[in-house]
Amino acid sequence: MNRPWNFAAGPSTLPLEVLQQAAAEMCDWHGSGTSVMEMSHRSKQYGSIRDAAEADLRELLAVPDTFEVLFMQGGATAQNAIVPMNLIGRGGLGRADYVLSGHWAKKSYAEAQRYGDVAVAATAEGSAEIDGHTYGPWCWLPDVSQWHVRPDAAYLHLCANETIGGVEQPVMPDMAALGAPDVPLVADMSSNILSRPIDFSRLGLVYGGAQKNAGPAGVTLAFVRKDMLGHALPGCPSVFDYGNVAKAQSMFNTPPTYAIYMAGLVFKWLLRQGGVAAMDAASARKSQALYGYIDSSDLYQNRIHPARRSRMNVPFQLREDALNAIFLAETEAAGLLALKGHKSVGGMRASIYNAMPYEGVAALIDFMRDFEARHG
Ligand code: PMP
Repeated sequence: MNRPWNFAAGPSTLPLEVLQQAAAEMCDWHGSGTSVMEMSHRSKQYGSIRDAAEADLRELLAVPDTFEVLFMQGGATAQNAIVPMNLIGRGGLGRADYVLSGHWAKKSYAEAQRYGDVAVAATAEGSAEIDGHTYGPWCWLPDVSQWHVRPDAAYLHLCANETIGGVEQPVMPDMAALGAPDVPLVADMSSNILSRPIDFSRLGLVYGGAQKNAGPAGVTLAFVRKDMLGHALPGCPSVFDYGNVAKAQSMFNTPPTYAIYMAGLVFKWLLRQGGVAAMDAASARKSQALYGYIDSSDLYQNRIHPARRSRMNVPFQLREDALNAIFLAETEAAGLLALKGHKSVGGMRASIYNAMPYEGVAALIDFMRDFEARHG
């Protein structure tokens, strides 16, 4: 099947093999006579689907036994409230610190303010002069050594990949080196989960919506270190208390059964591709090719500090805004979809998640080169 290349930021492209398998199993899952959508979440059959999804996810990311893997709902937006509701009251601390790297981190920070004393550990709000270049607001991130974390904060929150801005924090900081060894790190990995290994020894909690690298929208993945459970604020809705969700093995209420099934098919596909190590290498190759071409051209530009460039979301501007509409019309016609940048950044954005093969990125680069020859 010849499909166009879909560069959407999320929901985003899924592996064709996964869609075809889901289509083949849609009306009759493994001879059961029912669709996965029609099964009780408490049935043996669905239990096998859920358990396989969790086991495969644990294998892919080498999740240690000290962590619960939870399938939740409400997206990362709900986690913006669920995290403080569960963690900020730990040990009566009532305070948390946030790294402001862009749009999504700012949203998390704003929501957390409803639950306690919330402070900024580092921010990219202003411009920065780095190696003789000036980087504008949200196009860089202070070096980890400059983050200020209160040693009695209940947690430090960061967004590992800013989907809109195209800024990635590749390495999880060592909290001891930041003078806050007891502060658990919380990472929103909505848009880069499963694209690189995760060092769980540095983390207390990781969460992310599935709809970029892990499946369709509707299920939120949460990896919660077990000592983070059981500290929810009294006002926390019971369905959002990680302790309740963990105890019920993500069936405190009806889970998003079909989204979990689809994510499970993506996990099996990832294992067949060589797992997260293969995705890590592929992400490096794809993003280097695209940034390399952008940097070599006179028509396109990426404004993010090179050490912070996202491997998943590549925003780029054309030298003249007047060319944007022509670029978008021509890319759509050429089978290169959803390249329009977020309105807050302008220009274009190519999201190149796990399910986007190198071939798709090469097709985009070929198109961009040809467009430059005609309009540059
Ligand atoms: N964080 C990040 C990094 C995101 O990319 C998104 C969605 N694009 C969100 C949070 C919000 O996720 P959701 O819409 O699933 O609530």
